[in-house]
Amino acid sequence: MKTEVLIIGGGVAGLTLALKLVKRKIDVVIVEKDPTLGRTYKGELIQPKTIQLLDRLGLLQLFQEQWNTFSTIHTTELSKENTPILNQAMSYQLLPGPYNYATMLPHSQIKKLLLQELLTYESFTNLQPAVFSEIKKDNEAVIRIGKEKVEIQARFIIGAEGVGSKVRKHMGVSVSKQTYNHDFLTVSFPAPKELKAGEMVATHDRFLGLFPLPNQEVRTVYLIRKGEFKKWRSEPLQQFYDHYISLYPPLDGYVQHIQAWKDIQLMVPIRQHTDRYVKDSFVLIGDAAHSVHPMAGEGMNLAIQGADVLGELLGDMYETGNQDQVKWLEEYENVRKKRVKSIMDLSHMGGVVYGKSGVAWQRSRALALKQLINNKVLLTKYIFNISGLGHWPFSFKDGIRFVHSSDGDLSEQLSRYMFKVEDDYPWKSRMR
Ligand SMILES: Cc1cc2nc3c(=O)[nH]c(=O)nc-3n(C[C@H](O)[C@H](O)[C@H](O)COP(=O)(O)OP(=O)(O)OC[C@H]3O[C@@H](n4cnc5c(N)ncnc54)[C@H](O)[C@@H]3O)c2cc1C
Repeated sequence: MKTEVLIIGGGVAGLTLALKLVKRKIDVVIVEKDPTLGRTYKGELIQPKTIQLLDRLGLLQLFQEQWNTFSTIHTTELSKENTPILNQAMSYQLLPGPYNYATMLPHSQIKKLLLQELLTYESFTNLQPAVFSEIKKDNEAVIRIGKEKVEIQARFIIGAEGVGSKVRKHMGVSVSKQTYNHDFLTVSFPAPKELKAGEMVATHDRFLGLFPLPNQEVRTVYLIRKGEFKKWRSEPLQQFYDHYISLYPPLDGYVQHIQAWKDIQLMVPIRQHTDRYVKDSFVLIGDAAHSVHPMAGEGMNLAIQGADVLGELLGDMYETGNQDQVKWLEEYENVRKKRVKSIMDLSHMGGVVYGKSGVAWQRSRALALKQLINNKVLLTKYIFNISGLGHWPFSFKDGIRFVHSSDGDLSEQLSRYMFKVEDDYPWKSRMR
């Protein structure tokens, strides 16, 4: 079998890339081992930059019909006596429109919508379930479909198979990896009516995040210490309910919808980054290239955003007859790597700040959060960078801003640091 682009892995990264390519009439095969759309929770928060890209793909209306929008996240710090020592709000509305909000849509739903769209294109082939096992010679991949072995030859082979990528191993690129001193429990259940915004509640040793899903449900993430999961599971569920209710009392009567430990998933944060995303005609996207601490809800967004850049680049290479010039693939890495690094650092910082325990540490965290949230420049920078819409670097002056509050119109700075189309796809003016 032959194709132009072979994508290993039909996650959000692989599906987004495939869609970008078939829209440019390029032949694509996806190989996905899971016969379903995924049975475990893998993220739901969609950041503003991803919303912009879905709009560019012509999918905004389709997604809007399904997702739940929110623009505010409240952050609360509770003392040992359960009284608030911080209660503030951060809002995406500080950003210029139209993409000044975030949304929630289950991962499997996102994949379903992308796949539904892909299946309308003739140049798309979906091999599912099918398992990629190895690269045999240069650009030939060995795929197992049931008991059958199929060889697929492709001009480009894309590793989009997540953290354990075999394509990455074949490329021989090196990977830096970091684990954390904590894990998360995650589960969703019906939400109390008053929960309309995101909520982050922390104490000196605990953290609970609540994010409103479609259908009046709530996604919850709860920080536990590394290795505690076994102990938690051996306790009655009442203890789990009590923890949730003590941090956010309106959950009483709702968290009890969870009736078995098997419904609660363990989420193990990991930070991983390859030194190269591209080698010859092999390219890595999504978690195969980078995975981030989940505190800022960015992994899925980085995967979609990277697939968008690579899809645009490959589309342009074919359109201008440059499909044999693999040197152009470096453009993808040049755009994406520094953006990924900066989001990765922000997510890591979130993990460290909430991962440490102790009353003194909590006091410092609450003070720092208060200074950040009360300073319009700092807060706008933070939300802008998290949104993915642009990158406004933190600077030496920010140390002074931490002490003195600042205000005023920031539209000029936001427009300067916003990623424009020519920043997302900078090769366009040079590729002929
Ligand atoms: C519990 C959890 C919560 C998360 N929460 C968020 C969040 O709120 N927001 C956010 O932005 N991100 C979140 N993330 C991160 C996000 O899920 C990932 O960053 C994102 O799914 C990466 O997409 P991907 O397509 O690169 O990889 P994946 O989603 O891992 O997809 C890879 C696909 O490749 C397939 N595959 C693997 N090996 C093979 C093979 N040999 N042959 C064929 N197919 C193969 C797999 O079955 C899978 O479908 C979360 C992750 C987890 C685990």
